[in-house]
Amino acid sequence: MTQQATETHCPYCSLQCGMKVLRRGRTGIETAAWEEFGVNEGALCRKGWTAGELRGSRERLTTPMVRDRATGELRAAEWDEALDLIAARLRALQADHGDDAVAVFGGGGLTNEKAYQLGKFARVALRTSQIDYNGRWCMSSAASAGNQAFGIDRGLPFPLADVERTDVLVLVGSNLAETMPPAARHLDRLRERGGKVVVIDPRRTATAERADQFLQPVPGTDLALALGVLHLLDARGAVDEAYITARTTGFDAVRRDAAAWWPERVERASGVGGEELRALADLLGDTAGQGGRVMVLTARGAEQHAQGTATVLGWINVALALGMPGRESAGYGCLTGQGNGQGGREHGQKADQLPGYRMIDDPAARAHVAGVWGVDADSLPGKGPSAYELLDALGTSDADGDGPKAMLVFGSNIVVSAPRATHVTARLEALDLLVVADIVMSETAALADVVLPITQWAEESGTTTNLEGRVILRRQAVAPPSGVCSDLDVIAGLAARLGSPIPFSTDPEEIFAELGRASAGGKADYSGISYQRIAAEQGVFWPCPAVPDGETPHPGTPRMFADSFATPDGRARFLVPEFAGAAEQPDADYPVHLTTGRVLGQYQSGAQTRRIRSLPDEGAFVEMHPMLADRIGAHDGEPVVVRTRRGEMKAPARVVATIRPDTIFVPFHWVGVNRLTNDALDPASRMPEFKVCAAEILV
Ligand code: SF4
Repeated sequence: MTQQATETHCPYCSLQCGMKVLRRGRTGIETAAWEEFGVNEGALCRKGWTAGELRGSRERLTTPMVRDRATGELRAAEWDEALDLIAARLRALQADHGDDAVAVFGGGGLTNEKAYQLGKFARVALRTSQIDYNGRWCMSSAASAGNQAFGIDRGLPFPLADVERTDVLVLVGSNLAETMPPAARHLDRLRERGGKVVVIDPRRTATAERADQFLQPVPGTDLALALGVLHLLDARGAVDEAYITARTTGFDAVRRDAAAWWPERVERASGVGGEELRALADLLGDTAGQGGRVMVLTARGAEQHAQGTATVLGWINVALALGMPGRESAGYGCLTGQGNGQGGREHGQKADQLPGYRMIDDPAARAHVAGVWGVDADSLPGKGPSAYELLDALGTSDADGDGPKAMLVFGSNIVVSAPRATHVTARLEALDLLVVADIVMSETAALADVVLPITQWAEESGTTTNLEGRVILRRQAVAPPSGVCSDLDVIAGLAARLGSPIPFSTDPEEIFAELGRASAGGKADYSGISYQRIAAEQGVFWPCPAVPDGETPHPGTPRMFADSFATPDGRARFLVPEFAGAAEQPDADYPVHLTTGRVLGQYQSGAQTRRIRSLPDEGAFVEMHPMLADRIGAHDGEPVVVRTRRGEMKAPARVVATIRPDTIFVPFHWVGVNRLTNDALDPASRMPEFKVCAAEILV
């Protein structure tokens, strides 16, 4: 019998679909449509419909566990025992090796309140610079490019529904139809209006099936396509000179660089023929020439590369040359991946940031945030290493110094999701103390010295910021199981035991109000947002500064850049992106490109979705073209071994004609493929090259 319905949001991807959570029986929950929430209008994908099942899972952790030194096994412990033990060992390690002996690793799925508290906890209670999070592996290249070109990083600088009203949508490296199906309705409505959809992907995905034009480049060559498109637009006189003069800087250098990217050169680099490239440039040029709108959206396929930032800059250059950013239903955006990928990078769990998207090496930013926290600005540590570099240094000791000896992990399953995962797992095993807070015994939790059982989404309240920059409220629908605490309780409990100079609240609304004050005046200003406003307005778009009492509240900012960009001179910057291709190219030993991605029925490392019985858990597979299968003697459904310079895995072949013959694809939700992926890093974003490396296949 239905007892109560709570309006909240999905625990998974960045669309953060609105949903209702219904209580069933004594402890169960299930999800239902929340038709009135405009972003998804009641639609959910199968992950959203089944999200409540984890609540009743036998695999749910409900007691802290501590590894027994004598037996090496995890045993049940009381909360006080577990937290006392962690605090004592952290204090001892810091006394012996310095404050940076302790690291903190967060996640892009944590609420804004948790991400904020985690950053504050690291800097104030632990005094460590060693904090970063798995969002570094999600959209950091787009964030880096957005900051460079526009002076700000908000995934979509416009509401998602603007997609329906553009005239040409170019999706670069996004499989929207499978990764966030409710968003695909915007593509269908756009086409019903007569608009065109272009998809660029090494695989003919479900999204590509909806496209009017489909380009299938070699993985890691999206930048060459962008350079070629810009070359052709300029050659046919289709760039918007008036817009470029009025609203941008740096076009001359970009124009000179693109002049060398004639179609034949692009074809050699990308495998996309000149006619296809010309057809795309003609579509974009004709549309813009007739006053129409063009929107370019990138996602992980374009961004998870050692050249991810340059690739995004290349596509931003195309959008700017056409005069689009700042026009309604046009411009450039990034489709963020994780549930709070956007908010998670704004409030301080990133190695170089303080709340409000302030930089930690900016003296004014340090002074402001320290003032809100009630500590001395000089006591705050400086910038730490990026996520992969942090993990790579765990437990090491060399001439350059010691890496961290202990790490606390919140909301991340590193063993499955890190690149070159075998190496990273060895680094985790080298730690003196690994603490993991999770809802289930993930592959990473199974390695830990202490495992802390924490609440899941329906059992707690907190805000997230969806892919549009809309701050929304996840409401608590049910009480957590006995024995389970929130991450906020863990942080506060440890801070007190570590002798933090300031207390840490465990009340999400109180923390959000403090987060607002800490963000005030920053790029991601949340100071005018409250839980009450979010509830009344179906979310509030940042920036939304507070105003003096008695004045009309700031309305929030659904659309950015109409009048100016967030750069010091208000102009967008054209920047020259140097094309170098993938860090690892196929050769005689490793002759094919390996790329990775997601499937419809699973989410990220699968720690949650692999435990939901209603979702398909088919395990990893190796997708390959029939020509490649014939050449190596592989058969559909039969096992093959994939090997790279970093490791190997075995999985059944899936033979399909929709992938390039020189490329194989393996989904990353299961342990395996990230043992093979390349840890080459983007120089600006420090994004690893998840999306392409050289591989061999053995039958
Ligand atoms: Fe919506 Fe994403 Fe949840 Fe699916 S996983 S219901 S698309 S938020």
